Amino acid sequence: MLAELQQVSKHYDHQVLNEISFTINRGDSIAIVGPSGSGKSTLLNILGTLDRPSSGRVLLNDEGIESLDDNKLAGIRNQFIGFVFQLHYLLPQLSLLENILLPVLPEKNRSLVKAAEQRAYRLIERVGLSNRIKHLPGQLSVGECQRAAVVRALINNPGLLLADEPTGSLDEENATALGTLLTELNSEEKMGMVVATHSMELARRMKVIYRLHLGRLEKIEKE
Ligand code: ADP
Ligand code: MG
Repeated sequence: MLAELQQVSKHYDHQVLNEISFTINRGDSIAIVGPSGSGKSTLLNILGTLDRPSSGRVLLNDEGIESLDDNKLAGIRNQFIGFVFQLHYLLPQLSLLENILLPVLPEKNRSLVKAAEQRAYRLIERVGLSNRIKHLPGQLSVGECQRAAVVRALINNPGLLLADEPTGSLDEENATALGTLLTELNSEEKMGMVVATHSMELARRMKVIYRLHLGRLEKIEKE
């Protein structure tokens, strides 16, 4: 099992998640839909170890993470989880290639760095950005930046890709293209993918759709 939630609840001033259990395996693509405020980001952040549950357990590669300190968790996140958000969060002063290689910076082993660079070039070509490598984010379109953010999320070959409203800042055409790219990369790279979105169009591209309703996940049967 890549990742598992066991009866995860989260309370702020009210209960956002109510004993949610589910598992993610390699190759899965899962959409979490629900209106704004239904807890999609909270669920993704807990799955991605950016936030901790009020109760319940999170397992990554069959191991509970509750006893790990923040340093250990940061290491696991960098190696094992790729994040894509609504905004691309590329650093404006770095080139597209430098942005993509940021998660590789902590790596000291030269041959691993070389391998990551090769992977960067391959993925950049794969998403159609080969002629943009030296450009700064400000010189790229929003759609191009979001594709670069996807490559950055995948650079360490993570088992798990988490995308929170990845098409939320894109126009319809770019949103459709990014949805296609995510589903293709999911089958090519074989990571488990969880996409939180209020777009049913994007959600329908995933193999499984859950609706987050009153803190619980309800499976939606695809027609
Ligand atoms: P979604 O991503 O579906 O829009 P969120 O997970 O962002 O939903 O938010 C779910 C609920 O949890 C909302 O009512 C929100 O106000 C609340 N919430 C989220 N994060 C916090 C926080 N850090 N502190 C207090 N309440 C929060
Ligand atoms: Mg959200």
